[in-house]
Amino acid sequence: MHFAFPGFQVLEDISFDVKKGELCALFGPNGSGKTTLLKCVAQLLKYQKGDVYVDEDKINKKSAAELARIISYVPQEHKPPFPYQVKEVVLMGRTPHLGRFFGPSRKDIAVAVRAMDLIGIRYLANRSYTELSGGQRQLVLIARALAQETKVLLLDEPTSNLDFQNQIKIWRIIKKATRNGISALTCTHDPNHVLWFCDRVIVLKDNGIIATGPPDKVLTEETLNEIYDDMCSVKSLDGMKMITPRRADDSAGDESLTPVQANIA
Ligand code: ADP
Ligand code: MG
Repeated sequence: MHFAFPGFQVLEDISFDVKKGELCALFGPNGSGKTTLLKCVAQLLKYQKGDVYVDEDKINKKSAAELARIISYVPQEHKPPFPYQVKEVVLMGRTPHLGRFFGPSRKDIAVAVRAMDLIGIRYLANRSYTELSGGQRQLVLIARALAQETKVLLLDEPTSNLDFQNQIKIWRIIKKATRNGISALTCTHDPNHVLWFCDRVIVLKDNGIIATGPPDKVLTEETLNEIYDDMCSVKSLDGMKMITPRRADDSAGDESLTPVQANIA
């Protein structure tokens, strides 16, 4: 796949697949094209070259309604135009499944409620979506995507606004959804989340894929330091890999603070 904004190439010769039941991370520095790639896969941006297949089916030419039964997409930022209630927003995930003349069925409502319970946001059901915090809105959008019951789940930094507990919870829910057969492609900035939760990682840099494979094989110090300018160490804690900042950088930071602190004192 190729994608360029007018006069500005973002994706060049990108080719990959995500297997059924796989949780695949899309990882890379700011501006590397993760959001652009996700939007191309979701058919929200028109790429100049390439095709997207789900199973054997080419989805480039499908209608919005057909697509919405196959792919759900959770954007990173979402400012709704109307003050819908949370339960209405989650129920919107069912829209592509509704008949032409009837509103949501009992089943649709049950699916939406189940999604809210799973994400732990039933207590927000009657609140106005526009009044929520960024993190709460993110949880509502994830619930909406789950209520959509698609084969493919595309998530753009789904935990970027969440507290620590909710970050872990959401990764576990996405992982569980993939164990039930959904394929998930998830942009993230956090290399530890990739290591702890994902089956595979695709690393984007300089318009292309620079590495892909199992996270513990791909996210080596060498690859990370290529992306992050020599700032990372890979450690092991209780058999779990963990990426930390390099010690030398920590102490350099401390030293540079000392004179300022002395002045204040
Ligand atoms: P990421 O999600 O990895 O941070 P993006 O996909 O958002 O990166 O952006 C990739 C590149 O495309 C960046 O250099 C960004 O500045 C550029 N870009 C994003 N949106 C537009 C746009 N609407 N017009 C022009 N350039 C854009
Ligand atoms: Mg992005």
